[in-house]
Amino acid sequence: MNSLTNVEKSFLMESIRDVPDFPKPGILFKDITTLLNNPEAYSLLMGHLEARYGEYDLDYIAGIESRGFIFGAALAAKLGIGFVPVRKKGKLPSATIAEKYALEYGFDEVEIHIDAFGGKEGAKVLLIDDLIATGGTAAAAAKLIKDAGAECVEACFVINLAFLGGTRKLADITPHYSVLEVE
Ligand code: AMP
Repeated sequence: MNSLTNVEKSFLMESIRDVPDFPKPGILFKDITTLLNNPEAYSLLMGHLEARYGEYDLDYIAGIESRGFIFGAALAAKLGIGFVPVRKKGKLPSATIAEKYALEYGFDEVEIHIDAFGGKEGAKVLLIDDLIATGGTAAAAAKLIKDAGAECVEACFVINLAFLGGTRKLADITPHYSVLEVE
């Protein structure tokens, strides 16, 4: 299994910009646009993901709106498999299934197309997003993959805000992997 050295992880971490108080006071936003426009960092990350997931015999990659699309669609093209968008409610044009999840105040909802996995029962799917914080979005997306008749073989994140404990929400739903951990 391909793994990154600590030097490579530090390089990736330093390529991500910290933006304090965005989108609201008290949040330290991990801005991956600075990783994306650093070609060495972006290709190091994508090469690592390609080497790791090339061994998984995947059928599809599902990316969470919107930054999960960037990593997920690029990885799907590298692996020669299909990409499935997991979107916020009301964005997908054909028949969907939806999953609600709790936010700090209120609820949000994610959707996928009901036929996203081509009717292939048990299709092996990797779920990907840029970051896991409280884990609500990823848990809802992994449930959707199962509800659509596929298997979520792993949920992958570029960054895990480990101090928020979000991966606990995935414990009974899917295995998970994070490239970078913020303790
Ligand atoms: P959660 O459902 O709490 O795990 O939130 C995960 C989603 O919110 C991901 O799609 C992230 O892109 C976004 N997100 C949450 N917190 C941050 C943060 N501190 N920096 C960047 N993105 C974040």
